[in-house]
Amino acid sequence: MDHFEIAIVGAGISGLMAATYLAEKGKNSVLFDKGRGPGGRMSTRRFGEFRLDHGAQFFTVRDPRFEKYVQSWEKAGVAKIWCKGFSGTGDGHPRFRGTEGMNSIPKWLAGQLDVKTGHKVKSVRFVNQSWHLDFEESPSVSADQLLMTSPVPQTIALLEAGRVELSTSTKNYLSLISYDPCIAMMVLPKDPLSMPEHGGWQINEEPLQFVADNQLKGLPNPGQALTIHLGPQASTEHWESEPEKLIELVRGELRERGKELDIKDIQIHRWRYSQPARLHDESFLVAEGVPNLVFAGDAFAGPKIEGAALSGLSAAQAMIA
Ligand SMILES: Cc1cc2nc3c(=O)[nH]c(=O)nc-3n(C[C@H](O)[C@H](O)[C@H](O)COP(=O)(O)OP(=O)(O)OC[C@H]3O[C@@H](n4cnc5c(N)ncnc54)[C@H](O)[C@@H]3O)c2cc1C
Repeated sequence: MDHFEIAIVGAGISGLMAATYLAEKGKNSVLFDKGRGPGGRMSTRRFGEFRLDHGAQFFTVRDPRFEKYVQSWEKAGVAKIWCKGFSGTGDGHPRFRGTEGMNSIPKWLAGQLDVKTGHKVKSVRFVNQSWHLDFEESPSVSADQLLMTSPVPQTIALLEAGRVELSTSTKNYLSLISYDPCIAMMVLPKDPLSMPEHGGWQINEEPLQFVADNQLKGLPNPGQALTIHLGPQASTEHWESEPEKLIELVRGELRERGKELDIKDIQIHRWRYSQPARLHDESFLVAEGVPNLVFAGDAFAGPKIEGAALSGLSAAQAMIA
């Protein structure tokens, strides 16, 4: 069985930043992700000849620790400023995006790390003082230390599958965390919808939360391809709704706002864990009851890309302290 010093479940931004920090400190780690590529919710999807960001749309930067990394991403040409606010002349605060879509950034980070995509973990077990990861389609591996960055309900399921006995307080902390769902609709319109010049329309209401024109945003597309996010309430209410019902809802909403949307083609993605609604109040969590197990992700340091990145950095720092 392959053995590693540090294994990380999840190659979203929190896992990638943890591994980046560890590498800077001369520590090797290996990341396992079930996805076809890295990035998790920083995801860009192909739809025919179009590319669409269908998870996170942009990110902001407040903490100097995160700023340092974002500057290195800009220098590497994988991140750039999208705009400085979505309404009117903006609020002057930069919103960043990946150069060719949000996943430009995780792809670049993963290129410098040991990332094994297409590895769906089905259970984690603590055996003979080491962590064992069992996969759906590859041989199990073991590690001295384990960092879990999958959305917390998925992490709990993996621990339960491996019969890991956490302390009551750790279980309680984890069980308090919850996430909002988000229905994302990727639309190729028959005729372009009128959109702000920068391509971002932040509505932040129900049922519509955000509409993005991926071409105006700067993705290399031959025409308009829209990402439409429903708000948490509408996403919950319509979780099981058929595409026709969702289309009717969105077209009706847009019509009320003076816009007519005729659809040439559409794909729908349902994010069960889109952004945490109830967070843990520390930037990571060290498990009690078992050794060398740490939890990180956006449910720990803020429900956004910056929070997820900072959570990964803090967790990694603690793991090698
Ligand atoms: C629709 C939507 C819109 C958003 N908008 C914004 C925004 O505009 N700005 C912003 O800052 N943030 C936004 N966010 C939130 C942001 O995307 C997240 O906070 C951040 O990307 C979370 O990173 P993470 O590493 O914690 O988790 P994730 O990105 O979810 O990474 C976890 C990884 O774990 C992997 N995984 C899960 N289970 C397993 C398993 N069994 N085996 C192997 N791997 C597994 C997943 O494949 C995933 O890659 C949005 C999110 C969504 C979904």
